[in-house]
Amino acid sequence: MSLKDALAHIDSDELVALTRDLIRIPSVIRPGDPSATEAAVADYVHRWFVKEGFDVEVQDVAPGRPNVLAIFGEKGAGKSLLLEGHTDVVTEGDPVQWTYPPFAAEMAESRIYGRGAADMKSGLAAAMVAAAAFKRSGTRLDGRLVVGALVDEEGDMIGAKHLCATTIGRELDAAIICEPEENELCLEQRGVVWARVTVHGRMAHGAMPEAGVNPITGVCALLREAADLQRRLRRLCAKSKYLKPPTVTPTIVKAPLQGLPQSNVIPASAEATLDIRLTPGPDADAVAAEIERTCRRAATGGGGITIEWRPVNGFRLATRVEKDEPLVRAMVRGVRQATGKGARFGGVPGSTDGTILRTTLGIPIVTCGPGNRLIPHQVDEYVEVTELVDAARIYVASALNYLGR
Ligand SMILES: [Zn+2]
Repeated sequence: MSLKDALAHIDSDELVALTRDLIRIPSVIRPGDPSATEAAVADYVHRWFVKEGFDVEVQDVAPGRPNVLAIFGEKGAGKSLLLEGHTDVVTEGDPVQWTYPPFAAEMAESRIYGRGAADMKSGLAAAMVAAAAFKRSGTRLDGRLVVGALVDEEGDMIGAKHLCATTIGRELDAAIICEPEENELCLEQRGVVWARVTVHGRMAHGAMPEAGVNPITGVCALLREAADLQRRLRRLCAKSKYLKPPTVTPTIVKAPLQGLPQSNVIPASAEATLDIRLTPGPDADAVAAEIERTCRRAATGGGGITIEWRPVNGFRLATRVEKDEPLVRAMVRGVRQATGKGARFGGVPGSTDGTILRTTLGIPIVTCGPGNRLIPHQVDEYVEVTELVDAARIYVASALNYLGR
């Protein structure tokens, strides 16, 4: 069986219908609401693969939050390739601001509109249809293709972390992350550290500031130091052709941390969170040392404040794979076979489940999927149908190049 046979089994109408079905199952995670999880969409994916005759493994990551993994072919002496998607989506925000209702999956101007249209029910649907094309065409692979529909990418990535600790995860040799990147081959992803900085002072009356130690002055000093931290991180990290340079952005400021905010009370403590984005290069210790230095500088001259910090959710360092990786070569060739055009390279501005797979398993990842990379998390999120169909074709050609006989 040839590539042509497999590609002939991609039905674009079916792919559009599948994407729309997935969008119509809202999967915004609302903590505390057991009905607002990935469960319904995961169940849909599970049933779809069973109907297609796939072996399916369901991993219970958390209550109502299953990873669904569909398996095609035996690993044997060959390789195992993952096509990765996530089933959760971010909030739709205020539905009134949408031109098209967020979960109606309406079509206009050859686009599908809705929350998750780009990020990333379209990429997941393309991966599903790509795997089914192999099955339906009777193609045999020299290895195993896995489609993973994981939970919680928009949160703490517990789905990807769970997968890495299981047999099917540990046996992976490479992964294509089907996130919206306009079908570019993204070999680099920025990293992120959320530094939560706590400043301790001493409570006192606002009319007698000399009797206390005001932690808010420490927060102000920290925010002033943020620009210098960004400069130092830009020196420390590698320059990248595809990624924006490191940034340090204050996102949360809080005081007091306990008790009621009152206008005449100097709080005991205050807190600020820095969203720190990184390009490849330094390890976690080197990044931590720079944050530590920023905290020490913010504490000097603060009249007795102390400052400590911790990374919320650990370090997600930037990732990179080289162009001579077999997966990259398989995809460069695959893009040309699937679209008739040369591959375009790009970079991922944020971190993805691929960050976890790359840093935990050490396997090469390439992020490539349908959808404008700036549209995720906005109102009127959409995906172009031509990009969606191209993605499925790229996955088929790339997987066949990577796992072919
Ligand atoms: Zn995503």
